[in-house]
Amino acid sequence: MMVSDSLSTVPNPEQIHRAPKVLLHDHLDGGLRAATVVELARESGYAGLPETEADRLDTWFREAADSGSLERYLETFSHTVGVMQTREALVRVAAECAEDLAADGVVYAEVRFAPEQHLEAGLTLEQVVEAVNEGFREGERRAREAGNRIRVGALLTAMRHAARALEIAELANRYRDLGVVGFDIAGAEAGYPPTRHLDAFEYLKRENNHFTIHAGEAFGLPSIWQALQWCGADRLGHGVRIIDDIQVADDGSVKLGRLAAYVRDKRIPLELCPSSNLQTGAAPSYAEHPIGLLRRLHFRATVNTDNRLMSGTTMSNEFAQLARTFSYTLDDMQWFTVNAMKSAFIPFDERLAMINEVIKPGYAALKSEWLFRDTTH
Ligand SMILES: [Zn+2]
Repeated sequence: MMVSDSLSTVPNPEQIHRAPKVLLHDHLDGGLRAATVVELARESGYAGLPETEADRLDTWFREAADSGSLERYLETFSHTVGVMQTREALVRVAAECAEDLAADGVVYAEVRFAPEQHLEAGLTLEQVVEAVNEGFREGERRAREAGNRIRVGALLTAMRHAARALEIAELANRYRDLGVVGFDIAGAEAGYPPTRHLDAFEYLKRENNHFTIHAGEAFGLPSIWQALQWCGADRLGHGVRIIDDIQVADDGSVKLGRLAAYVRDKRIPLELCPSSNLQTGAAPSYAEHPIGLLRRLHFRATVNTDNRLMSGTTMSNEFAQLARTFSYTLDDMQWFTVNAMKSAFIPFDERLAMINEVIKPGYAALKSEWLFRDTTH
């Protein structure tokens, strides 16, 4: 039948670009424009850049992140964080982030950053948060002027290897309803289990606040188990190694272990970042990325960018790769997008309004255009 045929077609890049998208896992220091890094370095006298021409620097970031060397991968962030030390720089980077996401068709985003990494030039933690918030509001305004609609919430990240998690959690709580929607911990998983920061998570739970934890990216099931059952994470940053608790037999039948079953039963959101996983070796290829199986098994899977600059990616690119690899349709894309919106940290009524007033009508419009186009042939 023509209707279902047309709806089951893989969308083209232009349709993917126009489709409303929701992003839950994106790092502010991983999403700068290369040209902005160059300009901020020049203005601030930052001398450490490996390239001072924007296009070459852009390539350098991707190659360093692709190299398989952890040292080079981490070096990329030393440069972006290095030029994000003043109020003006933070406002600019946050504004451009919101602007770029909106131009890519993202309608709601939660963007994370670690305030403790932006204190080198004398800013306080509060000034960092306020500068980023100001930038996000400015970016939302510019997006509106350009005819795009986006809402950006901030997630405050604490670094796993540091000892400031409780302080950052308190900061997230103080700026709740003032642009900050939740908390996260990030950094090397091995050797730094999330339970090291139990006081921060227990504090946030007592405050009825929300948090996600980077878990199950490089490190496996114990990290996911701790994040959920000891720390009480609302969402899993990556969580892709949950695949290690799922057995697929030769006949295609699937058996979930206790932890995987818990994650699916409790509808724990997985902030999956396919391109990022390919770069860090957490998945060998798009085709072999666990997102295919997790989607089929109806886990609460979401699609995310992680570090747009280092991975040379966008939300549209992530969906285009997945559509090409798994023949995902607009219906699949809507499913991931609604999953993400349901899993956001803003209040339930606001999530529902986004789903009913922005996301569903957006996809319905794209699908009806498609039908119209087909019937004219
Ligand atoms: Zn991340």
